[in-house]
Amino acid sequence: MIYLDYQATTPLAPEAREAMLRWLADDGFANPHSAHAMGRAAKAAVEVAREQVAALFPPGGRVVFTGSATEAINLAIRGGPNGPVAVSAIEHAAVRDTARWFDADHELAVDADGLIDPEVPFPEGARLVAAMQVNNEIGTIQPVERLAERARAAGAWFLCDAVQGAGKLAAPAGADLIAVSAHKLHGPKGIGALWVRDGLQLSPIILGGGQEGGLRSGTLSPALCAGFGAAAKLALERREEDAAHVEMLWNEARAVLNRWTMNGSKTKRYKGNLNLRLNGLDVARLMSDCRRIMFSAGSACASGSGRPSHVLRALGLSDGEARSSIRLGFGRYTTRDELIEACRTIDAAAKAQGV
Ligand code: PLP
Repeated sequence: MIYLDYQATTPLAPEAREAMLRWLADDGFANPHSAHAMGRAAKAAVEVAREQVAALFPPGGRVVFTGSATEAINLAIRGGPNGPVAVSAIEHAAVRDTARWFDADHELAVDADGLIDPEVPFPEGARLVAAMQVNNEIGTIQPVERLAERARAAGAWFLCDAVQGAGKLAAPAGADLIAVSAHKLHGPKGIGALWVRDGLQLSPIILGGGQEGGLRSGTLSPALCAGFGAAAKLALERREEDAAHVEMLWNEARAVLNRWTMNGSKTKRYKGNLNLRLNGLDVARLMSDCRRIMFSAGSACASGSGRPSHVLRALGLSDGEARSSIRLGFGRYTTRDELIEACRTIDAAAKAQGV
């Protein structure tokens, strides 16, 4: 098996697994909200992890642990200012569908390269503007710093979905709320975080015991927190090394797949994401012919729906072009040889289809 689906999820880092095991051991089960010694030890581990995760964000805010980035985004939008929400046309469903909760349908358009115009007009009276840092389907990097600056000038909060950029790019400066997910940076699934700028008043959407400063009730998992913290620390320590590795992989993959057309900007992008198309390609057949290679037909979040990707459509691609697109995602644990082998296999299988 060759795993090329890093945007859907990433392999667990051995360091993150190791950090988790301590809290899955016989004496690691205490409730971190209990006042006794075992509870306090678990709480201390959660707070160490919180500091490690906080290093992914700018200074001047606090980290609220959640069950996923989807939950963090729900907290930001549904617990945020009550009023019109404007989101980009290429946001993940976690943002798009939650924004629709306000019955608002203000989409910020993107150009044919999959980039939001940093000067795109915001709708009158918008209270919250959301744009992602790195798109999960096509890898484009959005001008979030400028959008955040303009949102603030317009009196709106700015939410950045940094799920695909966290630990890889610098934290989005100027945002009021930032959502991240552990499993996209080699941490465990089942935990995310919302960074909240100091002074912002959010309302909880999950009520109960008042954990996480009253913003997100529910007992935290020390194992998941510790795994997230270790993964965040490692990502920051290895940022340059990981980026150089990804760049090398990108060049190798592009060289093999040089006859394929790339979807999204060639320059303003995270290079661990390669979204490519070949007109006339039958992607379902390709996936079945290349069963040993784990890759995606468009976004994993949208796959199975049968609908063409809203991101590729926003770029102006026809349904046929969107349906003949694949996404290859690679990163820290992908080797050069396996990537080249996978790209050659995919290209040969496409040729066997006559495209
Ligand atoms: N935002 C983006 C850009 C994503 O890629 C994903 C996951 O695919 C999410 C949000 C949701 O993250 P989670 O799986 O933690 O809910």
